[in-house]
Amino acid sequence: MNIERQHVQRYEDLFVHRHDIWAQQTRSGQYILRREPVTERLIVAHLRGRVTCGWYALDSDSTCRWAAVDADSRTGLQDLQRLWAFLKAREVPSYIEGSRRGGHLWVFFEPLAARPVRRLMGALVELAEVGPVELFPKQDRLTSPERVGSLMRGPLGVHQEAGRAFGFLEPETLRLVGLDSLSQLDYICSFERLPAARVAELLADLMDELRRKGRDLGRELVERPPPTSPPNGGLIAEIKSRIGDIYDFIGQYVPLDERGRGPCPFHPPDRHPSFAVNREGGYWVDFHEVNSRTGRYVGGDAIEFYRRLRGLDHRGAVRELAERLGMRPARPPGSGALRSPACGGSPTRRSSGLASPSARQTAADSG
Ligand SMILES: [Zn+2]
Repeated sequence: MNIERQHVQRYEDLFVHRHDIWAQQTRSGQYILRREPVTERLIVAHLRGRVTCGWYALDSDSTCRWAAVDADSRTGLQDLQRLWAFLKAREVPSYIEGSRRGGHLWVFFEPLAARPVRRLMGALVELAEVGPVELFPKQDRLTSPERVGSLMRGPLGVHQEAGRAFGFLEPETLRLVGLDSLSQLDYICSFERLPAARVAELLADLMDELRRKGRDLGRELVERPPPTSPPNGGLIAEIKSRIGDIYDFIGQYVPLDERGRGPCPFHPPDRHPSFAVNREGGYWVDFHEVNSRTGRYVGGDAIEFYRRLRGLDHRGAVRELAERLGMRPARPPGSGALRSPACGGSPTRRSSGLASPSARQTAADSG
């Protein structure tokens, strides 16, 4: 078989995310961790059936570039076919590979933190209501350098226990794509990857959809608020209580639609609404930025929103908000602090002198 360089490169680009280790499948189907680099030669040996490699899902920075749904039940392939159709309707390209007992459905990404990828895939699987499946990567993060996480048998390799290779299938007919390995390699060259912006957009939609089903997906994706030290706890609770509805508060600065979506104030110009407020949950999410350490999107409560908007540290934001909300003696005239608003109504709406003209318009329209 004449494997071309472009095939090998494409294969590597799709399936091999972690390059410093791989796993070798033994005759009994077990995997042995190999602490040696993944080379083009190794990939060719895998594709020629001389060795069977497993590729680790997560790199040491807990990012990934694919997710795989493993369906082992008797109806596994039919389940994956339904999932494929469900994903297609949402413009998520996916690819079905046969396996010994059922199949695997693959989705490819621009390298991205595993947490959002897993939440996205988990939510889609949940909504598609497919039978028992297993999702890879299995971990959100590698918690220590010794951990290697989960792996998948490299597609197009020989399953050592079964003694044969399983290829990609036509999703409509579940028949093997082409008759030889070369057609399989040509097929993977057509695979599409989901850009990070599309992942964000899908997550924002799903956050909305699952909220109606009583699941708070956003909470699992967003940064947690910084721990509050006891002497500040009461003050922060008081600020939040005076701010009241986070949707109204942020609505002063961001033109939010009825779902709480709007252009991100931190990454202008934002043509896709990549910013979302969860009114019931009392938090916001900016889908532009993932914290590389935690794999969570930037976001938080009303105070964190104000802090970022004003470029302050947490203490500074708390102090300024307390002043604006009339909770502390105002600074001397000219310092910019505003007077205490009259009781009742929405104090922040009136006290905010920071809203942009368009945001003020929104606040006025909704008021
Ligand atoms: Zn943003």
